[in-house]
Amino acid sequence: MKNLLFKMLRYSGLPFLFRELVQRNRVTILLYHDIEPEAFEKNLEFLSAHYNIIALGDYIKACREKNSRKLPPKSLILTFDDGHIGNYALKTLLERYRVPVTIFLCAGIINTNRHFWFTFKHPEVPKSALKRLPNREKLNRLQKAGFSPETEFEKPQAMNREQIMALKPLVDFQAHTIFHPCLPQCDDAEAREEIITAKTMLENEYHLDINAIAYPNGDYSERDIALSMEAGYDCGITVDFGYNTVHTDPFRLKRLSVNDTGSPDELAVKASGLWAFFKTKNGSRNGFGQAVRSTLKQPDYTSI
Ligand SMILES: [Zn+2]
Repeated sequence: MKNLLFKMLRYSGLPFLFRELVQRNRVTILLYHDIEPEAFEKNLEFLSAHYNIIALGDYIKACREKNSRKLPPKSLILTFDDGHIGNYALKTLLERYRVPVTIFLCAGIINTNRHFWFTFKHPEVPKSALKRLPNREKLNRLQKAGFSPETEFEKPQAMNREQIMALKPLVDFQAHTIFHPCLPQCDDAEAREEIITAKTMLENEYHLDINAIAYPNGDYSERDIALSMEAGYDCGITVDFGYNTVHTDPFRLKRLSVNDTGSPDELAVKASGLWAFFKTKNGSRNGFGQAVRSTLKQPDYTSI
């Protein structure tokens, strides 16, 4: 049913209009998590035909210089959250297509057999409710149900050191905290540790050049932005709906989730922002009108 809906939306011409009118002079950032290689190849075929895939670092440089001239039309940035072990299987494709990607790593989960807390099924409390609890209380509840962030399980969920090092020439690795808490639910000490220590762990233990943080679950507060600035990150990436220009607040970069799909219809609709547009309308944190206004209010390349 949903496939039919995506097909109808795709051939409605709206994604084309979004691309040509809204995305043409703005930077679109896409979010993946754990996409299969076969599906990712279909994504790369579609995206490289319809967009210009650029590196996050090049966009950040353009922002710093407030210079859009080096950004191609319909610039698109590919990002992956969490550092899932399945990301390693994309290596051959990344070599073949030579597209820049950024993977955001959880410094306390990579190179261990620890699991992401959100993959643990709490017998009583749904994930959405756990996310709303203060972080310490969430961890207590999980602990009582048999999960702790430091438990070593039989199998890893995130990439190990060898895999990260093998991908390093192809991938821009950045930070996604240590244990993936919802930052606004952390107390000050926890937030400081999760934001600042994650950066130093990735730099010292993996010799990575860390200048970007993706806020877990896309959740952030003013305090978390201040800590990210203090830590020395250049930017923070959300899952707020919208597109970016060199004038977008670098600690509130907007991003569209494409849901690891292999369907070209779904991808065309989601990468254009059309899907998130409708979802925003149906009750996310910003209203539809506000999302439209704030998107269109931002000057695009042509006005610079
Ligand atoms: Zn995440």
